[in-house]
Amino acid sequence: MKFGGTSVENAAAFRQVAGIVRSAEGRTVSVVSAIGGFTNALLASVERAIRGDARGATRSLSGDLERHVTIARGLLSDASRAAFESAVAAVRSEIRQLHKIIASHPVTSPSLQDEILAFGEQLSSQLLAAVLREHNLAARYVDARRCIRTDDHYGCATPLAETTQATQVELSKVIRSGEIPVLGGFIGSTENGVTTTLGRGGSDYSAAIIGAALGAREIQIWTDVSGVLTVDPRVVTKARTIPVLSYQEAAELAYFGAKVLHPKTIQPAIDQNIPVRVCNSRAPAEGGTLIVAEAEAAPQTVKAIAHKNGITTVQVTSARMLGAYGFLRALFEVFERHRTAVDVVTTSEVSVSLSIDNPTTLPQIIPELEELGTVEVEESRTIISVIGEGLRNTPGIAARVFSSINEINVSMISVGASTINLTFMVDEDQAREAIIRLHRVCFEAEDKHHAELLAEEVGV
Ligand code: ADP
Ligand code: ASP
Ligand code: MG
Repeated sequence: MKFGGTSVENAAAFRQVAGIVRSAEGRTVSVVSAIGGFTNALLASVERAIRGDARGATRSLSGDLERHVTIARGLLSDASRAAFESAVAAVRSEIRQLHKIIASHPVTSPSLQDEILAFGEQLSSQLLAAVLREHNLAARYVDARRCIRTDDHYGCATPLAETTQATQVELSKVIRSGEIPVLGGFIGSTENGVTTTLGRGGSDYSAAIIGAALGAREIQIWTDVSGVLTVDPRVVTKARTIPVLSYQEAAELAYFGAKVLHPKTIQPAIDQNIPVRVCNSRAPAEGGTLIVAEAEAAPQTVKAIAHKNGITTVQVTSARMLGAYGFLRALFEVFERHRTAVDVVTTSEVSVSLSIDNPTTLPQIIPELEELGTVEVEESRTIISVIGEGLRNTPGIAARVFSSINEINVSMISVGASTINLTFMVDEDQAREAIIRLHRVCFEAEDKHHAELLAEEVGV
């Protein structure tokens, strides 16, 4: 059972989580994120320390550290509260030392940043274990870094194969003794014991890795919305819960921007064929989303719309490409050399367009691409992806999708290699409008006739 940051943002939220753990059937393991907003604050403090203001960096965390203490005061009895308060004080002085080191070195090492970020999950998991014990649940804090063993790619570390065994060894003895292990998500350690993190939003991934290692009956992601919704609820308020998704649908949704699941969450579940359930910690009785190997694929239906802002597209045009071989290899090797992931690719006979979501290496990449052809870069683009098993071999969906947004300039259209998504690019400032229209056509108008709906769209 993984509880996200908003599920543990204050005392009431922790109490709610204790209730959810208590009602769970069978043996459980809890994985928890840092309390809401704390990872952002820790990250901002590192940036402040890099600018030389170590004192200000530490001071900027006072409110969030105090929030931990306030939660403990509200929920813990004297003895365990005192123990937790001294843990918070110890964390504060460790962070203080790290801020000083960072401020005195102009370029900080990414490992120090991970060391600091990891305090968020370390504190929340110790606090949750104490809160559960206060609710008469036999909970035991386990340092997740003893389980999740990773490479040393700080900030976005990859778990190593030995994680499975380490997790089994660390957790099975706790579980066998009838206790509930409580771990922080997001964090791991290298073989030398140096702290790493799995990338922002990575607690979902931790939970999936731990669930898979233990052969869990289910991996539950408890968050602040009722499951995976048809669209980002921050864009369309009429977003609805999708009751059942296939692994592949969920993976594509996460990959194309649905923040509710970290993109790597689904793979460990697929490997062990474990269902993933996404539920609302604020409304546990509301049905969430169940993600399983095969979901019903009603024809002509779209399951969800995902989007990802801040995309940069790169187009390389070269007559040399015509009928040549080796051109694409040379082009992709440039991205490989600079460790830059490419999301969407479309090609014509003489050009290749591709999209990246992290443009930091572009200044190095562009000159190398210019050796291959003319390069055009466009920033501030949005990938929109329409997803559903029902898209497989279903004629007419593309017409329906594109006619609903016919005044919006669309490029890089791609029917995903997986055949369950239709992906395209729009300018970021037109994305909201496009998503609202698409949602209306795909989900809000089931009773209306398509033509009638389109007529209405034209009047929008
Ligand atoms: P947590 O802190 O529990 O990990 P996140 O903020 O990472 O929560 O993810 C939940 C949020 O993801 C929701 O509050 C919602 O705003 C956003 N979101 C974006 N797309 C979707 C979607 N398709 N379904 C559900 N939530 C989504
Ligand atoms: N606390 C981490 C973050 O904010 C991990 C997570 O919440 O999943 O990115
Ligand atoms: Mg999250």
